Amino acid sequence: MTRHLFLEAAGVKAIPGRPALLGMPLDVTSTYRRGSADAPSAIRVSSDSIESYSPFLDRDLLDAPFADLGDVFVESSSLEETLAAIREMTALVMTASAFPLCLGGEHTIALPVVEALNEVHPDLIVVHADAHTDLREHYEGNPINHATVMRRIAEIVGPDRLIQLGIRSGTKEEFAWMRRHATILQWGPAAERDLLRRIGDRPVYLSFDLDVLDPVCFPGTGNPEPGGWFYADVERLLFALDRVHLVAADVVELNPRVDPSEVSTITAARIVRELLLILGNRP
Ligand code: MN
Ligand code: MN
Repeated sequence: MTRHLFLEAAGVKAIPGRPALLGMPLDVTSTYRRGSADAPSAIRVSSDSIESYSPFLDRDLLDAPFADLGDVFVESSSLEETLAAIREMTALVMTASAFPLCLGGEHTIALPVVEALNEVHPDLIVVHADAHTDLREHYEGNPINHATVMRRIAEIVGPDRLIQLGIRSGTKEEFAWMRRHATILQWGPAAERDLLRRIGDRPVYLSFDLDVLDPVCFPGTGNPEPGGWFYADVERLLFALDRVHLVAADVVELNPRVDPSEVSTITAARIVRELLLILGNRP
């Protein structure tokens, strides 16, 4: 076992054709329990407790070079400036022909990431796994936050390029919107084929809100929601994404302050390892 796997295995410069970790410790619009700003460093430290080898993918992180570019600076007094910095960093990683793997922070970070990706990939498909719709028009008077992020993203890519999985909480209007635009896909054994058919050969961004997992196996998040996924569901999604043209991903909404057993942080680290291996295996 390597100590601090992600820290020691990673290079500090983006490598063409390889994934690049980018911490995005934004936690300013969270409404219930703050703490997701601690997530990028907690995930890096907890990578200590996982193996570099993935039996599921039969690949080893020690044979799969990647970069860790550290954290984007969060200007706590200005959400606008932070979002601009995230957009800029994401664009820089793509200019280096690397694949951004973004560690939240709150889910809001996905908006500037998609803005940057969509410039390069105008046919981008966004796969959104989450307990929550995140489709509000406004939330507490604000158009940009974790509860509106997918609505803003849908305005950029169009609802026909958004696929939502694991959703089980939102307003009546948000559920009506999802049904109207057919963005929601029920996740089950038959759904994989559906997902692959909807994606085709277009480039994919995975936006992975960890609260899609059931609070029983993932309690360490700001807005836990019963009735969620178990780890096997995540593996099925990862297995499907290993067969598409994944160009970037985020893993958001871990809150280490409400994760005393560290099981959520370790689960997040494991998902990050699999995504590093998937992004590092592109043809
Ligand atoms: Mn959520
Ligand atoms: Mn979310």
